[in-house]
Amino acid sequence: MFCVKCGREGRTYGALCPECFLQSNRFTSIPEFLDLNVCAHCSEYLIGKQWKYYGDEVEAVKDYATENLQARQDGRLYDLEVGVQRMDAKHYQVHLVARLMHDDLEVEETLDTTVRVRRNVCPKCNKIQGNYFESIVQVRPSDRRFSDEEKEQVLNRAMDYVRGVAKESREAFIAKVVQEHGGFDLYVSTIALGKGLSRDLVSTYGAEYKESSSLQGQKDGHDIYRVTYLVRLPPYRVRDILLINKRLYMVHSTGPQSAKVRDLKSNEMIVVPNSELREVNVVGTRKDVLDAVVLTETEREFQIMHPLTFKTVEIRHPRNFERKGDTIKVFPYEGDLYFIGN
Ligand SMILES: [Zn+2]
Ligand SMILES: [Zn+2]
Repeated sequence: MFCVKCGREGRTYGALCPECFLQSNRFTSIPEFLDLNVCAHCSEYLIGKQWKYYGDEVEAVKDYATENLQARQDGRLYDLEVGVQRMDAKHYQVHLVARLMHDDLEVEETLDTTVRVRRNVCPKCNKIQGNYFESIVQVRPSDRRFSDEEKEQVLNRAMDYVRGVAKESREAFIAKVVQEHGGFDLYVSTIALGKGLSRDLVSTYGAEYKESSSLQGQKDGHDIYRVTYLVRLPPYRVRDILLINKRLYMVHSTGPQSAKVRDLKSNEMIVVPNSELREVNVVGTRKDVLDAVVLTETEREFQIMHPLTFKTVEIRHPRNFERKGDTIKVFPYEGDLYFIGN
């Protein structure tokens, strides 16, 4: 075989020797200017069809240039070097070296482009700014009022849940939080997120929820509904002390169906359905639990200093309990002290 252009003999590619072939063929291309969109609110960059977070803008520029590199089908790209130089606040000069194989021929090509960073608003932030929501999660305490601390705890839990979902989906966000009737309302981007969030609060706190929907109108021939979830928290939280049939119990854990409580007299753990605890009497919270100095300890009892009267008193030592410090926690109630733990 010989080259039809220069006449050289040897292996040919499309009737041309490697040199003549490479002179008249180019495998890669990139536009002279590329506009990279960055969201002015969340600072995420649009790469392809996805908005992504970058700690360093240079990395976003690299990915964007790579994304826009075009290569011919008959060239197999196996290596790409991307060098980025910042020109000013919004312009980057990008130099690329692409290495590819065409048949058994090694090809190296260099490309240059300018990436311009454009501030824009991503669809998600656009929705948040427009207060877009499809469902409302109304969180309410039952019976006793929310303390500020408690309210913040529940709100943090809700926000954590949404952040977790948002890692997987840009559709998930809370548009706003409004304080209402002793509780708060969360305006949630999608119905699925509203439901998921309600269920999370139900399983975390042993809450109940009710769902109601209202027709908002039509879009493209479909009915558009807005769904409201009313999440009613139970009157107790983990570590609260409850009075049930004249006995004291401490809430050990809460769940979607039932709570685990510990009998403060027998130290027995029992499971109580949530439905039986709706009207329960909360007689103490973790703030009412006191430290008592241990004077002596045997397998059967502790001698402690009463944290309120400073008298020496005995309290039963539960089996298998191992004390961690000089004190134990006790709960004073109607003249008696109840053992709580470390
Ligand atoms: Zn040739
Ligand atoms: Zn954004």
